[in-house]
Amino acid sequence: MDDRGQHREAHTVRAAAHEKMRQAVLCAFCHVIQTTGLPPLEVLGLAAAAIGAVYKDVAAAHQGSTGCPCGWDPQAEADIAVLHGALAAETASLPDLRWLKAAGKA
Ligand SMILES: [Zn+2]
Repeated sequence: MDDRGQHREAHTVRAAAHEKMRQAVLCAFCHVIQTTGLPPLEVLGLAAAAIGAVYKDVAAAHQGSTGCPCGWDPQAEADIAVLHGALAAETASLPDLRWLKAAGKA
């Protein structure tokens, strides 16, 4: 496979992973909304907090010589800036969410 093919494959893998994560978070969001009655922004805040908690756990698993062998070296400040950037980039153009309201009534 040439560089272009590898780039395309990496892009496809990333897009599929993005969609899988989006669906998992949406599923958890809907479940929490329906079972707690908390307002949407509060539930989204809990989702963001959960990402932070997962970051802390995964980063901790990569500390020291007994950590994960994948080679990732967590840099909290820079890593959290990346996470902030991902949130900002994803919400830069807000989609039409009327379907979500309809889905909530299903
Ligand atoms: Zn690792």
